[in-house]
Amino acid sequence: MRHANISIFVPHVGCRHRCSFCDQNAITGVHSLPSAYDVEEAVARAGTIGPDTEIAFFGGSFTAIDRDYMLTLLSAAYGYVKNGTVRGIRVSTRPDAIDEEVLSILKAHGVTAVELGAQSMDDAVLAANRRGHTAADVENASFLIAQEGFELGLQMMTGLYMSDDERDIYTAESLCRLSPATVRIYPTIVFKNTYLGALFSDGKYRPQTLQNAVSLCVRLIDIFEKRGIRVIRTGLHTIDKENYLGGPWHPAFRELCDNARCYDRAIEEIMRSGGRHGKYTIYTAVGHMSKMTGQRRANILKLKDKGYDCRVEESDRLSGGDIEVLFLGRA
Ligand code: SF4
Repeated sequence: MRHANISIFVPHVGCRHRCSFCDQNAITGVHSLPSAYDVEEAVARAGTIGPDTEIAFFGGSFTAIDRDYMLTLLSAAYGYVKNGTVRGIRVSTRPDAIDEEVLSILKAHGVTAVELGAQSMDDAVLAANRRGHTAADVENASFLIAQEGFELGLQMMTGLYMSDDERDIYTAESLCRLSPATVRIYPTIVFKNTYLGALFSDGKYRPQTLQNAVSLCVRLIDIFEKRGIRVIRTGLHTIDKENYLGGPWHPAFRELCDNARCYDRAIEEIMRSGGRHGKYTIYTAVGHMSKMTGQRRANILKLKDKGYDCRVEESDRLSGGDIEVLFLGRA
């Protein structure tokens, strides 16, 4: 059963202050606030709706917005839960905008999943990026969300101001301990009209390179997946390019990570089979051929540079990210 979201963006409106990296308008391309009518429009535009579809309020701090406005949006969406059009509602919000009272309102309006923007579990990084909450707020909110029976989603960022790979890995490990069902990982992108943008222009902040961000995200995805936590997004899908200043944005960022993971696995398997230079067949699960070969056959070319002349075949014996290699002889 394929999960789908009917996404509605609610930019900034609930934010008491501005985080270092955030220009929600630039990130989402949305400049006006949605109304109940926009919720109806979004559902109508979605066309055929599968059984595992949710209405998702993303973008800002949903539970911190004006209470009447929040109820207007929720009530519009809840009608579709009650008549069976969608399975439920997801909302994303800040860790310090969660308490028992707001969770009871969400529950009464058909919300099934709450995603928290944790971003980092290092208090110094959170403070440096003007988040206005602590790692303890993430832990407390996560506990309440799980206790009230919602699906918990957590979002983290990499390469924030004053962070590094070690701190980002610490964040991932800390998030795992909160047992989220899902995680989103966003490498930090620098936009105009943000504090980070000013630091970047003054030479005080250097974003991750695309290659560094991909290598780190590959490690983070492994950390989460080994604990059975689904990574449902890696990298921003679209951005407002006019406001982009720097950072590791790529339209197919997750694909780059998947390709890099396949390459690493291929090397591991080749080494396990003796690491001899020569010709190989790499077997992947059905549907994983392009992840293994990489964009413009980048993985195959990199393997060839190392002395491994590989061709890829799909095998229905394999599933997920599993691969097998067969040494065919010296080239
Ligand atoms: S809480 Fe979220 S939406 Fe608000 S400023 Fe920070 S990152 Fe942006």
